[in-house]
Amino acid sequence: MIEVLSVTAEVYPLIKTGGLADVAGALPAALAQSGVTMRTLIPGYPAVMSRMTSGREVWSSEDLFGVPARLIAGRVEGLDLIVLDAPVLYDRPGNPYVGPEGWDWPDNWKRFAALSWVASELGLGLVEGYRPQIIHAHDWQAGLVAAYVKYGPSATLKTVMTVHNMAFQGTFGAEIFPQLRLPQHAFSVEGVEYYGGVGYLKAGVECADVVTTVSPSYAAEIRTPAFGMGLDGLLNNRSATVHGVLNGIDMDAWNPATDPALAQNYTASTIQQRGVNKRALQEAFGLEASNGPLFAVVSRLTWQKGIDLLAANIDQIVQAGGQLAVLGSGETELENAVRAAVMRHPGQVGLVTGYNEALSHLIQGGADVMVVPSRFEPCGLTQLYALRYGCIPLVSRVGGLNDTVIDANVAAMQADVATGVQFAPPDAHALGDAIRRTLALYADEKSWKKMQRRGMKSDVSWQASAARYAQLYASLIGVTTDDNPDH
Ligand code: ADP
Repeated sequence: MIEVLSVTAEVYPLIKTGGLADVAGALPAALAQSGVTMRTLIPGYPAVMSRMTSGREVWSSEDLFGVPARLIAGRVEGLDLIVLDAPVLYDRPGNPYVGPEGWDWPDNWKRFAALSWVASELGLGLVEGYRPQIIHAHDWQAGLVAAYVKYGPSATLKTVMTVHNMAFQGTFGAEIFPQLRLPQHAFSVEGVEYYGGVGYLKAGVECADVVTTVSPSYAAEIRTPAFGMGLDGLLNNRSATVHGVLNGIDMDAWNPATDPALAQNYTASTIQQRGVNKRALQEAFGLEASNGPLFAVVSRLTWQKGIDLLAANIDQIVQAGGQLAVLGSGETELENAVRAAVMRHPGQVGLVTGYNEALSHLIQGGADVMVVPSRFEPCGLTQLYALRYGCIPLVSRVGGLNDTVIDANVAAMQADVATGVQFAPPDAHALGDAIRRTLALYADEKSWKKMQRRGMKSDVSWQASAARYAQLYASLIGVTTDDNPDH
């Protein structure tokens, strides 16, 4: 067994703001079949602490970056957790990263340095009887792990850094450096220094033994200035250690045959029963009962996600007899753009703001088309859920969207392999064309159903990718695994 400590700022089902939580939550079970034991280190936010009632304290200190802290180990929802309970840092309302007014917590540098420092100490044997061989750090919040390990005493402890989104880098002023518990020479280009300040993601990408990102296409894209967001040069230097490993989905949590959030469960062979969910969805969004194509969005409403491109095309969807249901929240202008469309097209366009896990499932089970018009997309999960639920993904041809959806062009339709619609470049005009293509495909009921069934059969599980992670871990510590997906 390979022992890995996963370090993350969110993990489903305890605390989730996006895809990172889904991935961190699903990986341990997926890896168990590949000979990897994974425990997860997570901050003790209120939502986490309330679930740790039967955990036991395994370490405590009066001075973790100046505040009292303890570690609590326990199992919750099948996850083997180590929770960093430091109330001064984490016992706060709302989101893991921002306060109730929407601003980043000003001490985020300390909140996540503390998490990363504790992770590296766990790797050195902080808790008796537990010593991971590898620490797997996720995103900038865990970026310093690799720096603490690199500048620490262990020559055998290995680190993996996974970048779920290059856009969030965790950059701070140089003034925090003296408080990070790193040696002075770590403030250098080989360490944590980044454009004169401290870069947490940069530190992870620079110092980790292996860097992964969540799709092969994104792994290639981030080596270019357009997608690298300042780290493309570094990634090019380290290209031999950068791997793209596609995310999978939790096949139990996302199963249309058993999903309790659906009005009607179904399988590929009973796909016509999706109609019951479509009707429930129309009701939930205040839409008229209609058999026209129901487009949907489940997303953060941000520039990255291309919601403005969709907003520019809503009238076209409605004029063609289609409807649109949007679940999400984010930037005010984008919310307002969708809201204006709801006012223009009452009964045809609906918006539900806020976060609603159950409704996100119903959308996958009832909508006809899942629109994901991202400008960049490291992997994307909503299109994977859509495939599994027989909801046709309409996606921009970037990152993981490119790797997971097969465009319904003439050749792919003739070869019976298409699973969705892609468009490029990510602009409103190309999306408009793709919507017209989707409408034409929808009009051919028989081939649409075939495409839905094909999507439902495509492999969106963790199986191949978990084996790939296991292989990367094994190569780091010099052992081999039997699970070689390349053979
Ligand atoms: P990202 O992590 O960039 O936000 P992903 O597609 O990787 O995008 O993951 C988004 C995850 O968050 C999916 O599980 C999606 O269903 C979920 N999600 C996004 N917005 C909402 C919302 N408003 N309500 C419920 N789930 C949401």
